[in-house]
Amino acid sequence: MSDSAATPLKGQKALVTGADSGIGAAVAVSLAEAGAAVGVNHRDSGEAADDVVRKIREKDGEAVQLKADVSREGDVKALFDRFMEEFGRIDILVANAGVQKDAPLTNMSLEDWQKVVDVNLTGVFLCMREAVHRFLDQGIAPVSKAAGKIICMSSVHEIIPWAGHVNYAASKGGLHMMMKTVAQETAERKIRVNSIAPGAIKTEINRESWETPEAEKKLLKLIPYGRIGVPEDIGKVAVWLASDDSDYVTGATLVVDGGMTLYPAFAGNG
Ligand code: NAD
Repeated sequence: MSDSAATPLKGQKALVTGADSGIGAAVAVSLAEAGAAVGVNHRDSGEAADDVVRKIREKDGEAVQLKADVSREGDVKALFDRFMEEFGRIDILVANAGVQKDAPLTNMSLEDWQKVVDVNLTGVFLCMREAVHRFLDQGIAPVSKAAGKIICMSSVHEIIPWAGHVNYAASKGGLHMMMKTVAQETAERKIRVNSIAPGAIKTEINRESWETPEAEKKLLKLIPYGRIGVPEDIGKVAVWLASDDSDYVTGATLVVDGGMTLYPAFAGNG
């Protein structure tokens, strides 16, 4: 990677969870293009993570794949230990891993409620706790003004209620207050904690909502800007939030949704 203003994360070490698919993969590639060495966390077999690592290395970036289930405390501790062995320090955590298991309230099993909360909320808690431990041990290094940066991958559903998805909406609503609380708790130690709240981004998690022309047309009615987002839209924002360009930003949710949260149904006078 070249040494220029295009590499604002040069010398920094970043861990991205759920980085073998969709938004996480694009964030991993974007951070690497911006100069960071990247840990590509994956829960599944590793083939998809291999592709992300290869893509980064082809552009002279640095990356390793790290298997762990973020909802398991032992896995998360081992993940951070392996990351530290590999890279020596950690500057950026992107807590991106997330799942959906949809059903109306009356049909939702406790298992599906728990699974989503375990990954989307507890998984972020476990990763943030590990990251903050390491940031505090390390202190501030010359590569960044902050001792560490955390980016939580939230959703517009930390704002917009979502019928048929009570587990998911509750997990993202909880993530909103967890992010702000940890930001408040760690700001004086020069740690920045923020969220990105994507709107509709074309990935596996929501394939049925964009893969047919009918589904895409229906979805576009909710997006004033007139296009469905792509994972790279989120990658670019993650680079900014991880860089010193956003050094005065902490406890914020950056909504990246083509206007989905602007109540488009009210555009024609309600
Ligand atoms: P995706 O299904 O393509 O990716 C989800 C990733 O999380 C996968 O890599 C998966 O393996 C990983 N993951 C799931 N459970 C895990 C676990 N226990 N441990 C480690 N990794 C695990 O979907 P995506 O759209 O890329 O989703 C990424 C994040 O973005 C999620 O938190 C999701 O809620 C959020 N998000 C997505 C959209 C969208 O429109 N795609 C919108 C808002 C928020």
